Amino acid sequence: MTSTTESTDCLFCQIVAGEVPADVVATSERSVAFRDIDPKAPVHVLVVPRDHHGDIAQLAAADPELLSDVVALADEVAGDLADGQFRLVFNSGPRAGQSVFHVHGHVLAGTSLGWTPA
Ligand code: C5P
Repeated sequence: MTSTTESTDCLFCQIVAGEVPADVVATSERSVAFRDIDPKAPVHVLVVPRDHHGDIAQLAAADPELLSDVVALADEVAGDLADGQFRLVFNSGPRAGQSVFHVHGHVLAGTSLGWTPA
């Protein structure tokens, strides 16, 4: 699936709709930010567009303003929950580590981050 307003079998669409609980830390009109259930940093928040798009490239092609909204909400979260410095990671495809196929940015912050993901 590339893009719809909602997918009934998509976990993150269900979180956006309030059908699955999540620790929501911030919202915008078009995006939702919630804490990752398996945090990899002191601050680990997922930012998702309310509309369903599979990955970042599909989102960028279909709705660049919405991608911009996701990035702005990530910046807001990093400022609210950490010192404003953050890493924003979009895994794209299973081999890159994507396991939920509703685009989401991982906001990682709250500590000095190492590098080299492999
Ligand atoms: O990039 P990837 O698709 O692997 O990221 C999915 C993320 O969603 C994981 O970090 C996982 O811990 C998180 N998750 C969550 N709440 C769920 C299911 C998964 O925060 N209910």
